[in-house]
Amino acid sequence: MCGIVGYLGNQQAYDILIKGLYRLEYRGYDSAGIALVNNNGNLSVYKTKGKVADLEKAVAGKDISGTVGIAHTRWATHGEPNDANAHPHYSENHKLAIIHNGIIENYQALKTELINRGYHFQSDTDTEVAVQLVQYIMDSHSCPLEDAVPLALNSIVGAYAIVIVDKTHPDRLIAARKGSPLIIGIGKDEYLVGSDATPIVEYTKKVIYLGEEQIAFMTKGEEIRITDLRSVPQTAEIKKLEVNLSQIEKGGYPHFMLKEIFEQPETLRASLLGRLNPELGQVKLSGIIDNEKRFLKAKRIIICACGTSWHAGLIGKYIIEELTRIPVEVEYSSEFRYRNPVIRNDDIVIAISQSGETADTLAAIQLAKEAGAFLFGICNVVGSSIPRATDSGCYTHVGPEIGVASTKAFTAQVTVLFLLAICIAELKGTTSPERCAELIRELQNIPDKIARILVHDKQIEELAKVFTYARNFLYLGRGYNYPIALEGALKLKEISYIHAEGCPAAEMKHGTIALIDEEMPVVVIAPRRGHYDKIRNNIQEIKARKGKIISIVTEGDEDVRKISDYVFEIPDTEECFAPILSVIPLQLLAYHVAIAKGRDVDQPRNLAKSVTVE
Ligand code: GLU
Repeated sequence: MCGIVGYLGNQQAYDILIKGLYRLEYRGYDSAGIALVNNNGNLSVYKTKGKVADLEKAVAGKDISGTVGIAHTRWATHGEPNDANAHPHYSENHKLAIIHNGIIENYQALKTELINRGYHFQSDTDTEVAVQLVQYIMDSHSCPLEDAVPLALNSIVGAYAIVIVDKTHPDRLIAARKGSPLIIGIGKDEYLVGSDATPIVEYTKKVIYLGEEQIAFMTKGEEIRITDLRSVPQTAEIKKLEVNLSQIEKGGYPHFMLKEIFEQPETLRASLLGRLNPELGQVKLSGIIDNEKRFLKAKRIIICACGTSWHAGLIGKYIIEELTRIPVEVEYSSEFRYRNPVIRNDDIVIAISQSGETADTLAAIQLAKEAGAFLFGICNVVGSSIPRATDSGCYTHVGPEIGVASTKAFTAQVTVLFLLAICIAELKGTTSPERCAELIRELQNIPDKIARILVHDKQIEELAKVFTYARNFLYLGRGYNYPIALEGALKLKEISYIHAEGCPAAEMKHGTIALIDEEMPVVVIAPRRGHYDKIRNNIQEIKARKGKIISIVTEGDEDVRKISDYVFEIPDTEECFAPILSVIPLQLLAYHVAIAKGRDVDQPRNLAKSVTVE
């Protein structure tokens, strides 16, 4: 999500750190910064909103000497992307500086305590709390940095990869991780640290992948020392980096899209992080809980979105109506804004947009604002226009999505809509606490279930080769899987340029069925739970007309297998959560068909990632 680079050695650190930031910037970040212990012993922090090139301009004429330093490209989670919130952050006495990737969930409580003890904060970030806490522990326990770091980390709840530089010991760097990756490169008389291997690979192939909840102490001229959070020494396993630069920039994947498809177990965990209380069986979405009255009095919810986000909205309608009994309308933003819609001041309008900049959706919420509706945003890019224009909202937290065809942002939008529905249902009491707890438990299993699907990628790759001849595809689904039929068709169109149509399975006989012949591939989403017998009948109708049937079924389903030409299995889950699983093979199918046809999947013709024009 963000980029981390650290250097300790005999070379001038600045050039290595800046080059490292450029290597990480392909993921698109919002601010950048650097901290160096200069040759004269000063600890200088330079940082700015914007790109690495802006940082380079900002440091022009400044002292950039020094052989130890840390640098960061931020992807804001707490506090808008501006100069003050950019990393690194100083401690109160300006002797320490920190960079951080992740989210410190209990930062508010720690911050309040530190403020009460006289500490001053310069930013809105969660990160600054960590460095202030380390200094507080050093001061109050009169202990050295290496003892204070584990103590501080034991008080921190959340996810982090951090690197700390110390003005008093310019021969040292300390790094630690929990939940966010961190790699340490071991060169000749030098150490490099990176959030991935990109900034390291040019200098050394000897690396240590820092383990979960481990701290690394690096001192110039000494062997690296690694401990766990209780200061128990750990063995450092040195691995050989088997990758070259061009691969690493896409994390070893040939395309960003494939990388992002495979990131989904991790990104869904990030979307759920800190938002569930499995013990109490509750969802904690502050954007809703803090506006409880508005949600309790809402007579209707209107969801405005475009493209893939609109498909997420349609799944949102199904789950919100089921759990909360509030009627939901799902609107294409571009239609809504121009058709003089009825909007009341007790309506809630939910705007969904990955980039947070979608022009039609922005205009739609402007209209809703004028009518006095309550506006709620579901976006991925922190600090973008829609979160700023709405009354409240919830980020998806999947990191930058670079592939033009949305994948991980979609599954996260759907996940957030599930959380929203459960949260409102809990407030309204429209679904029993036992049922909500059951749903929450299963939601936590979804990332692992996605991982189980991804293992069978090769099966889809083979299947895709069979269908490169096709000029049309049909996708069918019912209930919660109808929006996935639409999304599967859209993915295929976007990157393979094959015409595809998604349709509610039962609607087919009202027209679309005329298209079916032995040439037509028909993808049918037919999980065991929900309308199973009905969709089996629909498959028989296609078979009778000689269509080529590709079925997505629940593991172990033999009945649909018998009447299908090709079958792909997904794990069993609650009926309402099936879309997050059934979309995965369809993302892979679109990707592999496009590759087999020689298309440019990351930059498909005529499309743009963030649609800022209407
Ligand atoms: N939560 C931190 C912030 O908002 C770190 C974000 C990141 O990973 O870049 O500053």
